[in-house]
Amino acid sequence: MKKLSIQFTSVLLVGLVSSQLVGCATTTNKGAVGIDRSQFMMLSSKQVESLSSASYSQTLKTASDKKTLNTDPAVLARVRAISDRLIAQVPVYRADAASWKWEVNVEKNDQVNAYCMPGGKIMVFTGLIDKLNLTDDELAAVIGHEIAHALREHGRERMSLAYAQQGGLALIAAVIGSKKNAATSLDLAGKGTQLFFSLPNSRTQETEADRMGLELVAHAGYNPNAAISLWTKMGQNGSKKPAEFFSSHPADKTRIDDLSKLIPTVMPLYEQAKAGK
Ligand SMILES: [Zn+2]
Repeated sequence: MKKLSIQFTSVLLVGLVSSQLVGCATTTNKGAVGIDRSQFMMLSSKQVESLSSASYSQTLKTASDKKTLNTDPAVLARVRAISDRLIAQVPVYRADAASWKWEVNVEKNDQVNAYCMPGGKIMVFTGLIDKLNLTDDELAAVIGHEIAHALREHGRERMSLAYAQQGGLALIAAVIGSKKNAATSLDLAGKGTQLFFSLPNSRTQETEADRMGLELVAHAGYNPNAAISLWTKMGQNGSKKPAEFFSSHPADKTRIDDLSKLIPTVMPLYEQAKAGK
């Protein structure tokens, strides 16, 4: 079994190098906030998206079985309406994202959390909305931040880095090597979920998602100032009861200061979006 996986890994490496997937580039336009960092990518978008899609499907099925998926039609409609307005603006950063298979769902879960998996698979936990009593503008700020992670392909970048550093090699090789049949798809989805959540965003990726998310909400006609009130609320909530979200999303002064400095840059976009309605 072990021998087989080593052999497979070699094949995979040769495959990756020969198909010239290794490289540095930037996944998005830089936007008004000026994000142009080169990104190290060893895995293809297609590989990462199929992984993400399988994980997301499994998450939906599990939640559905537990009767925690989209339990409140009004909350679902609210989250989808906000997400749709943000998704309509993604071509500002990359034209191809407009044709992604976007999905937006809500899970009844007390955790203060939300995410957007690679390829546009959004999940919002009810704990985020309820515990922080979020306004539409604040909810747009969280979802915009998560969409920005997906547009920048931060997940793919983290998996590529793990791959390069060998630590995640066996796991990624196993995931990519899984045959597409019913018996292994569950395993594949489980490993994908594990990968996505076990590799936290770096601080650099967080800053990029904050900045691009701020611009995205402005283009969609949501008040960018809500990002400040959102992270202030997050900080207050986090000090009472640390949630998983805070280990990767510290609501500290640096984050809030950085966002505050960029508000004048994106405010004209917000005014323009509001005037256009
Ligand atoms: Zn983030």
